[in-house]
Amino acid sequence: MIRAALLTGLVLAASARATTLRPLSVREMLRAADVIVRVEVVGVAARRTPAGHDGAPIVTDVATRVERVYRGTAGERLTVTLPGGAVDGDAVVVEGVPQPRVGERVTLFLGTAPDALSPVVGLDQGWRPHGARRAPAPSAAFITNGAWQAGSQVKLQLHLDQSSLQPVRPLIDGSPDWDGVVEAAIARWAGLVGSIQLVAVPGSTAPAAHANGTNDLLWGLRLFGQTLPPNVLALTTQISRNGFRAEADVVFNLDPRWDAYPGPLAPAVGGGERLEDLHRVALHELGHVLGLAHPDENGQKVDALMNSHVSDFDDVQQDDVDGVHALYGGGGAAAVAPKRLSARECRHECGRGTPAVCAASCSDAGRACRRTCRRLAVKTCKRAGRCPGVATP
Ligand SMILES: [Zn+2]
Repeated sequence: MIRAALLTGLVLAASARATTLRPLSVREMLRAADVIVRVEVVGVAARRTPAGHDGAPIVTDVATRVERVYRGTAGERLTVTLPGGAVDGDAVVVEGVPQPRVGERVTLFLGTAPDALSPVVGLDQGWRPHGARRAPAPSAAFITNGAWQAGSQVKLQLHLDQSSLQPVRPLIDGSPDWDGVVEAAIARWAGLVGSIQLVAVPGSTAPAAHANGTNDLLWGLRLFGQTLPPNVLALTTQISRNGFRAEADVVFNLDPRWDAYPGPLAPAVGGGERLEDLHRVALHELGHVLGLAHPDENGQKVDALMNSHVSDFDDVQQDDVDGVHALYGGGGAAAVAPKRLSARECRHECGRGTPAVCAASCSDAGRACRRTCRRLAVKTCKRAGRCPGVATP
């Protein structure tokens, strides 16, 4: 048997739609998988979990027929339980968890850690559908996944500076603290959405929890009482009622090494961990909060910050902007056609604020401006002796 009791009690997340991920090598996948099977999905049923339950308020049981066992042991039937699903107009979505369809055939890489958020290795990477992926939307490249009702004021409670993870101040991009980095990312999106209002609440003292009616952004190692997969940099969960988003929460994984910096991803130094950039990861997760999904996991090849894997893109791309404009309309002329500053104007703007704010406000302002922002950020990081790719003392 395929450890049926264990798997039934676990939450299985995976799929065609992940969140900000560090890609795993095949070797890492094989090392982490205790069981590898090919299955056909034969049943999908969502249900509410008992009140007071620590886990997801709605879960989906996915019944499968096992076609082939490549590693480990498995019987003929295997049921896995995914966090999220829809019941009577209420929906819970954890970005990265698939929406399985009956008849779908998938190769599953499964681990057996009892407290993992998902027994699927690497979140979406251990869920390998056979055949063609979902067809792309015909009229638009971006992919959306729900939205806030027009006229909503979306308050985002920032709790990042209330954790044990204290930044070495200032951060490489000059931001004073973690909340400041995320606040700049919120400001970037706020200028692009017309029919809703995004409001950042840094240093929030509101209680942070899932399904509590507030939108919480925080550091953590767990979601719904289960451990985040190590290659997941952040996860967004969303709750919708009657077709509109009612709550969104973002957990940033405490495990990697974090800072905030513009430009290409900083390589690992001396075989160590790569330095992750909170600003671009927050921008990506906020895209999920707004209702954008991953174009690359829906059969599309576009330049987008919303592609599933973290990349050298440090700002939203045209495809991402088109997506939020489709959902919320443009944020006025300034958002549709970002202000184009000269290098001189940009230097002035940068001099007035932190480089992070500068990068957020004028990264679409043309190459000269971007270069200025980057130079300023590099200067700041050199001063702090913590430039990406340079060994730290
Ligand atoms: Zn994502």
